[in-house]
Amino acid sequence: MVVKRFFREPTKAQIKALDCSEAKKDLVDRILALDEGQGLIIARTLVPPAYRNSWHFLRHGDRVPLRGSIDVDPERAPREATPVDYRIRAFHALKERMGAYSGYEYHPIDIRPHAPVDARIRRISLVECLEGARIFAYTHQVPMASIDVEQYTNAGAVAKDGATFPVKVPSRQKGSRRYSFSMVSVPLANNSHKFRISWGSLSRGHNCKRSQYMGLRYSAKEDSEVFNWCAHEVSAYLQIMALQRKNDNRIPLQMSQIALPTPATKDFYKRLCDSVLLQDPSIESRDRLRVLNKAEQEILLWGLVYKKDHHTSFFAKDHLGKYDWALRHTPTE
Ligand SMILES: [Zn+2]
Repeated sequence: MVVKRFFREPTKAQIKALDCSEAKKDLVDRILALDEGQGLIIARTLVPPAYRNSWHFLRHGDRVPLRGSIDVDPERAPREATPVDYRIRAFHALKERMGAYSGYEYHPIDIRPHAPVDARIRRISLVECLEGARIFAYTHQVPMASIDVEQYTNAGAVAKDGATFPVKVPSRQKGSRRYSFSMVSVPLANNSHKFRISWGSLSRGHNCKRSQYMGLRYSAKEDSEVFNWCAHEVSAYLQIMALQRKNDNRIPLQMSQIALPTPATKDFYKRLCDSVLLQDPSIESRDRLRVLNKAEQEILLWGLVYKKDHHTSFFAKDHLGKYDWALRHTPTE
């Protein structure tokens, strides 16, 4: 599969050819300081040794919890707090207990008699938030590329259960068909149901599950207990958010479960993709070097959140469609 030009990243050899220095600590600072023409070799492993490999870590590694329990007492239900309020609190709490995280997670709210549409735990990784933002930018910058959002299908139930939007999202691979699926439980109306609706948001009928998820072959996107947001769903939600905002409806933005990367965080992520290698004793090549995988990128993004704070890392005020995603040292052909 050939990746579309917009998503192309330099190879290990191209990064290795840079003016590279080695580091075992202060990795976030070292990456933030990388100038044009400079590279960094991380001379240690990042995935905690308790996990067999990166795949195992992404599936079972620690998550940052946004909220605790499945059943929330209706009297104490978080009707007043938006998802971003919870993210601010949870991201700030990292100052107390920083570690290697594989994403953040939350439970839908069961406020009877309204059971959530799907009670599975929701998980989102910061990498998928970034990759979703990249797909979103691609469709706003490359002619003919688009995320198509059809009119919602369940008009009568929108106020109480949220909207269902059929969407089409492009693939990052050349010549691949677009993904068609529905975004479900999208909050549109400004009423007391918007909290429950938003905590229940998910997709239906999305098929990147079985082929490839987070760049790791054979890892299931979701299972009977967990719904993992992927970049396609993130980008679809961003497009719904943008379209609604045009109509002066900020509810999907206010109630977004997706952490919105700032330009500085996007630039940090770009350096992870175009200027950093890792020494991996388990690989066969003589130099033991390789580009970072999604687990390592995720760990370093949480390191950035720890170093900065929620607002400077994931509280975007700019239009994500305008972000510059051009990478350094990217092969032309
Ligand atoms: Zn997907």
